[in-house]
Amino acid sequence: MSRQERGITMFAGPFESDLVSDFAPAVSTNNIFDTIGALATSKADAPVKTVVLHEDVVLDHPRVSIDAIRSIDPSAIIVYSGKHNHQHADASVDLDVSVERLQSAIANASSLPTAFDSSEEIDLDAVLGIADEVSFTKSDAQLGDIDLVRTLMHQPTQFRATLLSVLKEQTGWTYCEFVNDESCAPETALTTSLRYGHQEHGCLAAIGSSITDLQRWGRWASCWLELHRKQRDLKLLAYQDELSGAWNRRFLKTCFSRELKLAKETRRPLTVMIFDIDDFKHYNDTWGHDAGDEIIREVVKLLRTIIRKGDHVCRIGGDEFAVLFCDPEPPREPGSNHPTTVEILAKRFREQVSKAHFPKLGEEATGVLSISGGLATFPWDGVDVDSILQKADERLLQSKDQGKNSITIGNPSHKD
Ligand code: GH3
Ligand code: MG
Repeated sequence: MSRQERGITMFAGPFESDLVSDFAPAVSTNNIFDTIGALATSKADAPVKTVVLHEDVVLDHPRVSIDAIRSIDPSAIIVYSGKHNHQHADASVDLDVSVERLQSAIANASSLPTAFDSSEEIDLDAVLGIADEVSFTKSDAQLGDIDLVRTLMHQPTQFRATLLSVLKEQTGWTYCEFVNDESCAPETALTTSLRYGHQEHGCLAAIGSSITDLQRWGRWASCWLELHRKQRDLKLLAYQDELSGAWNRRFLKTCFSRELKLAKETRRPLTVMIFDIDDFKHYNDTWGHDAGDEIIREVVKLLRTIIRKGDHVCRIGGDEFAVLFCDPEPPREPGSNHPTTVEILAKRFREQVSKAHFPKLGEEATGVLSISGGLATFPWDGVDVDSILQKADERLLQSKDQGKNSITIGNPSHKD
């Protein structure tokens, strides 16, 4: 059963009853607590497919509400209905959304890979520490194609800004901007869509241009935007796990080397957790390979709701994962012990997995998924990537040997 086919739509907040009735089977809740309660107690044979979240029920903290919903059911599609879009939801719609618009938002969100965050504009080269250390200075002459090539190579996240600068310099237009669609452009601006083959790149809006010129420059800009996208996608393909959207083993090794160098320079600890799903073969055998795949995706999604912004989730084997805790810890003091924050995060994650509601597992299996893991920290457990990973692996095996469903950390007396 795919995400599209699954069950109930939950309307959290003051939605029109006509809208709710068009999404039968649907349930309504009044506040965030009701919503979380209803999700937690939903039946495995009638799971919640979508939560439509009204801005009134999330109070001042939409992100907290969205994360709370995800931690209860990582596979539910979350559609935020409010005056502004919310980037952490799977889709955003207006407050007075029509049936058709909501259906289409849900359908689009359903067709996206569940945990693929490739749309997030990250500077992968910088995260990995593979950015070329070439500093290039802008020539006095007008910006041109050479500046675009250099930006693509050395500052890919600046690419759109550089493209706009080139356009402005070359054309002399009084205004020029990339916008999502025509309605976002100033009233006096002309717009042209930026499309390359099937790829949409939004619109180019300009003031001071003829429509012919704008369209000509639009075609030129579309080629560059498509090249930028392709280059970025190729890089992501090399470092991302296709099934789950988590980073892969190559990413872990590369990123870990860079982070370790930084940790040594700044005298900060750096922790990695390796974990493996317990008895995963049994899940595959009982519920099928597709169900197993969904579990992998949902575990990654759940993990993402718990870790911090700078931490990285990697899938390094079939059902084996690594989390690199890169968010800065306080600087190490002489005589200090292992950091405790990441240990708390790791334990919380293990608890959340064992409590999580994985609809694929069916009623009888809900809540029985567990993981075993091991934590290792620089400098206490090793000073190079391989020895730290090996230590984490040894502790993972220790957790398995001692009955599974546990995380083993540095001091054996601290076993969770
Ligand atoms: P243990 O508790 O000791 O970890 O037992 P286990 O059954 O989880 O055993 P192990 O970790 O050795 O086996 C991992 C299984 O994961 C073997 C394979 O069938 C399954 N697997 C590996 N890759 C994938 C995948 O991409 N999708 C699915 N559905 N299953 C996979
Ligand atoms: Mg396993």
